Amino acid sequence: AALFEGGIAIKNVLTIAGSDCSGGAGIQADLKTFAAHGVYGMSVIISVVAENTCRVISVEDVAPGIIADQIDAVFEDIPVDGVKIGMLSNKEQMKTVAGKLLQYRPRGVVLDPVMVAKGGCALMQPEALETLKKEMLPRAFLITPNIPEAEALTGRKIETEEEMKRAAVLLSEMGPWNVLIKGGHLSGDAVDILYDGGDFHTFITRRIPTKNTHGTGCTLSSAIAANLANGMGTVEAVKAAKEYVTTAIRHALPIGKGNGPTNHFY
Ligand code: PLP
Repeated sequence: AALFEGGIAIKNVLTIAGSDCSGGAGIQADLKTFAAHGVYGMSVIISVVAENTCRVISVEDVAPGIIADQIDAVFEDIPVDGVKIGMLSNKEQMKTVAGKLLQYRPRGVVLDPVMVAKGGCALMQPEALETLKKEMLPRAFLITPNIPEAEALTGRKIETEEEMKRAAVLLSEMGPWNVLIKGGHLSGDAVDILYDGGDFHTFITRRIPTKNTHGTGCTLSSAIAANLANGMGTVEAVKAAKEYVTTAIRHALPIGKGNGPTNHFY
């Protein structure tokens, strides 16, 4: 943690993710979320995504060598109190990040297994799925798949809360300590289920009628990483992060012509 002149220590949290030039998702959402949680934010860029609230125009993946150098640059200099990992585009990037996690062994890695943007554009190459499972899931303290991501990772259809629980157990057997499955893609209330290796914890919020939900997954996972770095226990960190993202959606900004961003500083 950094110690400032006034003697106040703040935690340092790193995001490893893709850049959303329109500011609502990816690295930009993560850094805003970190700032809103009073942690010092750092970022390793995985991919440059030309996108806005309506569509993804193109994606340029950053080469593994400079990804490794960015991670080294952070870890050789600054104590890292928490890590959020978002978009990883291809196998080589995953192997690079997994290798660096093994080298530096940071605590509290929150992995959001990003696969497809809301408009349908692939942010992860489909052939990288097995590498994500083998190399990345075992490196995570907590993973935050939504329903389609949990279905892709487990190869099972998920339509009920019971099926979410079964998928969470299957996913925890792939390596992560904790699994949070986000049920927003099912109908009705937004029900998320956390499996901590022993117990299930259910978090329910009313569905908010809005199209402005760009970057909600990014925001939730970085809020959890910030809360863990700030010393919260896992259940408390998830609960507070869900409350944060729910309020951020309720106060979403009517920016852009499509699905607007959440409001990180309501
Ligand atoms: N763009 C980037 C760079 C992301 O990492 C993500 C993460 O999920 C998204 C977009 C997703 O955007 P949306 O919330 O619109 O699905």
